[in-house]
Amino acid sequence: MTDSFFHEGDLVGVLTAQPLDRLLDYKAPEGGCHLGAFVEVPLGPRKVLGVVWGAGKGDYDRAKIRSVIRVLDVAPMREEMRVFLTRAAEYTLTPMTAMLRLATRAPGLGEAQSMRKIYRLGDQTPARMTDAREKVLGVLRDYGGLSFTLGEVAEMAGVGTSVVKGLVKLGAVSEEEAPRDVPYPQLDPDYGGKALSADQAAGAETLRAALRSDTYGTTLLKGVTGSGKTEVYLEAVAECLRMGRQALVLLPEIALSGEFINRVEARFGMRPAEWHSGVTMTERRRCWRMVGQGDAQLVVGARSALFLPYQNLGLIVVDEEHDTSYKQEDGVLYNARDMAVLRAAINGAQVVLASATPSLESWANVEAGKYTRLELTSRFGAAVMPKMAAIDMRVEDMPAGTWVSPTLRDAMRKRLEKGEQSLIFLNRRGYAPITLCRACGHQIGCDHCDARMVEHRFLKRLMCHQCGETKPLPTKCPSCDAEDRLSAVGPGVERMGEEVTALFPDARVAVLSSDLYGSARAMKAHIEEIAEGGTDIVIGTQLVAKGHNFPLLTLVGVIDADLGLQGSDLRAAERTFQLMRQVAGRAGRAETPGEALLQTYQPEHAVIRSILAGDEESFWAAEAAERKAAGVPPYGRMAGIILSSPNVQEVFDLGAEMARMDGPLRQIGAQVFGPAPAPIARVRGRHRVRLLVKAEKSAPLQQALAKWAGQFRLPANLRMAIDIDPQSFY
Ligand code: ADP
Ligand code: ZN
Repeated sequence: MTDSFFHEGDLVGVLTAQPLDRLLDYKAPEGGCHLGAFVEVPLGPRKVLGVVWGAGKGDYDRAKIRSVIRVLDVAPMREEMRVFLTRAAEYTLTPMTAMLRLATRAPGLGEAQSMRKIYRLGDQTPARMTDAREKVLGVLRDYGGLSFTLGEVAEMAGVGTSVVKGLVKLGAVSEEEAPRDVPYPQLDPDYGGKALSADQAAGAETLRAALRSDTYGTTLLKGVTGSGKTEVYLEAVAECLRMGRQALVLLPEIALSGEFINRVEARFGMRPAEWHSGVTMTERRRCWRMVGQGDAQLVVGARSALFLPYQNLGLIVVDEEHDTSYKQEDGVLYNARDMAVLRAAINGAQVVLASATPSLESWANVEAGKYTRLELTSRFGAAVMPKMAAIDMRVEDMPAGTWVSPTLRDAMRKRLEKGEQSLIFLNRRGYAPITLCRACGHQIGCDHCDARMVEHRFLKRLMCHQCGETKPLPTKCPSCDAEDRLSAVGPGVERMGEEVTALFPDARVAVLSSDLYGSARAMKAHIEEIAEGGTDIVIGTQLVAKGHNFPLLTLVGVIDADLGLQGSDLRAAERTFQLMRQVAGRAGRAETPGEALLQTYQPEHAVIRSILAGDEESFWAAEAAERKAAGVPPYGRMAGIILSSPNVQEVFDLGAEMARMDGPLRQIGAQVFGPAPAPIARVRGRHRVRLLVKAEKSAPLQQALAKWAGQFRLPANLRMAIDIDPQSFY
């Protein structure tokens, strides 16, 4: 790069996170600035954060151009990051300003390093010793030269902070100022490696060799739950650390990463940097800064960790790569899995996509020769994949208002007698999905959305799962005023808890659903207690499908295997297949073999049959053939357009106009479908209309979409969201 430094007074173009559609010209400050520098610039009466993106255009009255206020004390944004943000913006049709916001999501980047007081053992001994004082000094002695904050010392010693302060006055404890953001401790790649089985070792070596090649590559690491995928990719992380490059592990349900962080600590001796919504703002800022100065070797995080300012990123692991939460459904619409591949390609880094049930997209990329496939064939140790069978609900004797079939009940009883655990899976939170008035037939809906209110008996409220609105359970029908005629229809996990408790009054039953916990920590603690055997029967939503170890679990009962097969989603079959296999994979992880029973009204359905047969390859092949024939992803391209506004007329009018003026799309052979009311036609009081664009795989869809959408002026309150490769169709 020539011209990568700008001298004082040179014109620079600055990208800010403000919603403007262009770079702003400024004069470089005293001392000049580098290309990519993070700067503070004046914008009207405000000071805003920006990045020096290139030379200024100079098409503006030079006399009016203001100077950059100051260059921030953080490393300039690297060229690869600028390329990544630009390409990601082009792919997702996101304004650059919004991309920059993603890349600067840490508080106080503009502030000087803040300081805090830290405490360590001093050199004096207090003349008068008390119990409390002895405790404080004991803690500090136990931890050698380590230093702590005031709160930490007091908490560990179990004394008030005044005791510590008192010891400071006496010189027995020393108090110093230290920077708040300190480097993460060094990880040791050779600390706690396990002896690997033969195919694990072969897999690990393949990944290590890929890393040593110092080039880009993506590997799909496939293996049933428990086959040791995590062990294997941690070896790739180790190699990356040995090479002095940074590694990133992305996880889907970040609230549940505690178990994972412990594993990292056991493997590398120290805890890695964490980046997700659960970490404090202080810790976020530390992570951003330390990643940027190369003082964080490994980041474990949620999808937005892709946008941290790595200095030398060598490896990105996307664990549970098929997980739909990698696709952000609000704000910037990007798929973290695809963006990880893009980022690695720009950086010459390796990507590992790990899953027991890969997405069809990744499967197709392997078939096309773009990704390498690595397979772990057996479960670690003695455990094998559970036996799977269908329970044909058409022939089971089911009293009204019950959902556990006699066959499933008998299987559960056997486990109870043997002291083993059962899991009852139902992917529905709450008590009952419908509250119906027996007098007039009215179903209670949300006031702001086209959705039914779900009864949550534990919270004693009705809740809308679209917008989160809750209201107390009414005693009379809001439509016909009949008293005490409202009744719960259909099961949620809370109701299953009731049924199972009635069936097995002496069993210890636990319902596991994210909304039953006050905090992620409380949920984690409960999950750990269950894993250790604190429960006989677990009833759970898809939360339990995601990667927990329940070693004592030997039976999985799926209440409604047909649930995911309904609906118009093109990925319905794929999702059901993945979810059922994941849930089934919870059983029999230790030495006892497991069994999975699927309650279904359509045991001959092709998806149910391939789940039972465990024949993944034929499922993928059949699914791929169907999508190819329909020209849909991953063999064709799609974009969803959602228009939303409080004004129903306006959304339909604009939708119709967009469908009419489809010239730019027709030019590339793309088709527009709609407008149609979105499946959920009203959310939070906004009416929603959707259009769907379909194109051939090779068509330049983004440019055409930009040209097409650019033709319209949006009324003030109307929002247009363009979703490339939509994952959900709500
Ligand atoms: P996956 O990621 O495929 O679900 P894990 O890596 O979590 O599998 O392995 C499942 C369990 O088996 C974990 O508790 C893990 O520690 C253990 N395990 C896997 N491989 C080994 C090994 N080679 N030595 C010891 N324990 C192992
Ligand atoms: Zn609602």
